[in-house]
Amino acid sequence: MIERPDRSLFGRWARPFAPTEFGGSLRDVDLEDVVARGKRLVLLDVDNTLVPWGSEALPDWVLEWLAQGRSLGLEFCILSNTRHPARLARLAERMGIPYLRGKFKPNPDVYRRALAQFGVEAKQAIMIGDQLFTDVLGANRAGIESVWLVPMARREFIGTKVSRMGERILARHFKKRLRRKPGGPSSQ
Ligand SMILES: [Mg+2]
Repeated sequence: MIERPDRSLFGRWARPFAPTEFGGSLRDVDLEDVVARGKRLVLLDVDNTLVPWGSEALPDWVLEWLAQGRSLGLEFCILSNTRHPARLARLAERMGIPYLRGKFKPNPDVYRRALAQFGVEAKQAIMIGDQLFTDVLGANRAGIESVWLVPMARREFIGTKVSRMGERILARHFKKRLRRKPGGPSSQ
């Protein structure tokens, strides 16, 4: 289920890390709604968003979700911080979507390059990923809406395990502030 928080409820310190939406998995992202909101480009993280970390086990339902998006006229682009470009290239080819690498997320440069490449404005794009300190922070810096997903698998890069501690602090803050309102995040 996707939840869209009122980000003005969050502390100023937390807002750069606050996603536009909270979700469980990609399946929760309603692509018809994405189109209805004027989005044309969906930016995607790879590890623990499209496939379990370090894996090439691309689920069928991910391919179906992408096919549905294409049939609705959406374009997709991968923004990945992976250190394994050959694996990224294989995955991107199987999905039939381009990828960009460059300065690591949360540097907004790679987001802006994607916008330029697809000829869309920031408000016409949305970033989907499982990490606040890379996917969401970078999207916010580039003025792009974002969806923060629960990671697909528990296994991940050692550096990520460190940033998850920071995420837990932020998630507690988000929950606490949203608890004052019905419909706060339940899945993060
Ligand atoms: Mg990830």
